[in-house]
Amino acid sequence: MNNRLYQGHIARKRFGQNFLTDQCVIDSIIAAIHPQRGQIMIEIGPGLGALTKLISKFIDRIIVIELDLNLATRLANNSLLNKKLTIYKQDVMTVNFADIARKEGKLLRIFGNLPYNISTPLIFHLLIYTQVVCDMHFMLQKEVANRLVAQPDSKSYGRLSVMTQYYCNVLLIFDVPPTAFHPTPKVDSTLVRLVPHKVIPHPVYDIRLLQLITMKAFNQRRKTIRNSLDNLFTPVQLIKLGIDDSLRAENLSIIQYCKLANWLSHHLEK
Ligand code: SAM
Repeated sequence: MNNRLYQGHIARKRFGQNFLTDQCVIDSIIAAIHPQRGQIMIEIGPGLGALTKLISKFIDRIIVIELDLNLATRLANNSLLNKKLTIYKQDVMTVNFADIARKEGKLLRIFGNLPYNISTPLIFHLLIYTQVVCDMHFMLQKEVANRLVAQPDSKSYGRLSVMTQYYCNVLLIFDVPPTAFHPTPKVDSTLVRLVPHKVIPHPVYDIRLLQLITMKAFNQRRKTIRNSLDNLFTPVQLIKLGIDDSLRAENLSIIQYCKLANWLSHHLEK
């Protein structure tokens, strides 16, 4: 038997297709999301509808975004589901969530068992839209989930941790073993909840500068920040900001990164 075949569909690796098969896990995910009528629920990558079918029992309408046209067509032809679905047959990386929120006139609740091959760039993409998002629940590779919540001085702490925690409160909900999916992935998974801060705790004047600084620092994470950030800050400026220039990217807190970004925007204005 083709071990990529599931419910008459051959799982496509390039679309990160690992379908949820464990009903207990599916029930627990929907319980964690706790959908309510009237909310704008958006599922990324509904696939064969494992989560979609269950969530549709609680609500009247779901927006789904699916890149695989075969799967999108299957969902559109599913007579039990299709009346409730609005299907975006497109790459989620091209979706403008602000437009959807404007059209719906409500904050969005986004969820999905994400294609692991694009989960990191996808989270960066979604962070742009946190102002129009109520919350997000995602099944992620455990290692990526750990990076979302990582604190300074750890190997998992990186640009993804800083940017996600800048915008959101992140909670690990539960771990899921490979056996809950078909085909079975080689990695463990974790369900996470991201809730955008109502008020950003350490706001920066220009988010692009925070992105630039974290990119430069973490792209050369073995170097001291004196070296990795040398074309943005002199050692004297770092010391004046109370930041030890012999530290590495992973040793700086989010507050310190925000301080650097704000100093830079102030300095560039002059
Ligand atoms: N939700 C289903 C489940 O849990 O069984 C499927 C999850 S599977 C891990 C990921 C889903 O995302 C697949 O249906 C895949 O086709 C879809 N997908 C992959 N890349 C995508 C993209 N760039 N935009 C939208 N959907 C995508």
